[in-house]
Amino acid sequence: MRCAKGRISLSRTLLSVKWENAMRVGGYEIDIVVQGYPGKAVCHGGLGWSTIVLNRHGERVALVDCGSFGMRKLLIERLAARGLKPADVTDLLLTHSHYDHSVNWTLFHRARIVAGRREMAWSIAEPWGETVVPELYVSALDAWPTLARADEGDEVFPGITAHLAPGHTPGHLVFRLHGAEHDVIFVGDAAKNRAELLCRRVDATFDEQDSAASIDMIWRFWRDRPGNVVAPGHDLPMRLENDEPVYLGERQASIQAWFGDDIETTTTIDLTRR
Ligand SMILES: [Zn+2]
Repeated sequence: MRCAKGRISLSRTLLSVKWENAMRVGGYEIDIVVQGYPGKAVCHGGLGWSTIVLNRHGERVALVDCGSFGMRKLLIERLAARGLKPADVTDLLLTHSHYDHSVNWTLFHRARIVAGRREMAWSIAEPWGETVVPELYVSALDAWPTLARADEGDEVFPGITAHLAPGHTPGHLVFRLHGAEHDVIFVGDAAKNRAELLCRRVDATFDEQDSAASIDMIWRFWRDRPGNVVAPGHDLPMRLENDEPVYLGERQASIQAWFGDDIETTTTIDLTRR
């Protein structure tokens, strides 16, 4: 409940206050549909709470990443709250093939689906059952007629270019929206959160050196113009103030648990406290 209300106020805050320029720049509307969370489960493996961003530009409607199974109902509801059906999404941009970012491509199978050429080649060769690549979903995507394989520098959406950022996965992409006044850089899991951006080391990577070089590239993009925004795969978007990342918006995360004797008795656990 808190999340649903919080999401709306966060979105309004971002758009009307912090992201007012981004809304107007180049005719884009940028909206965090699902806010990623910078954590993982301690006793149950991955958590997979990843960021999904909506970009509207003229008649085109793009999503950057599309979340995991647990987000399906939420995603449909939040698109509906914005007056959209899944079929209205014209473009889906995938940063990488991990299940928590890619698996819901089937919901947007009519859209043009952009994935890295190198990422797809690596993903379909991954061993079945051993990794967080959803092997059957990437196999189906590899043969899907609307798949567009992206290479370094390709313009994958009007005003948005793809850039190779290997490390977390070998063919990971970041997407750079070139606004008239500033850029918005969607970095997926090349840098999952603020901590990784600051210390330039990452918690999960295929290649540590590649990850460090990719984070260096993100910082170059970030510092290119004042006001540039970085949106990571598992954290709030951030802008630089005096070269320090400052969050745009407020973290929203909690879980509801049944520790009582009936289904009406629940405990809500806030996951935002430090
Ligand atoms: Zn990932």
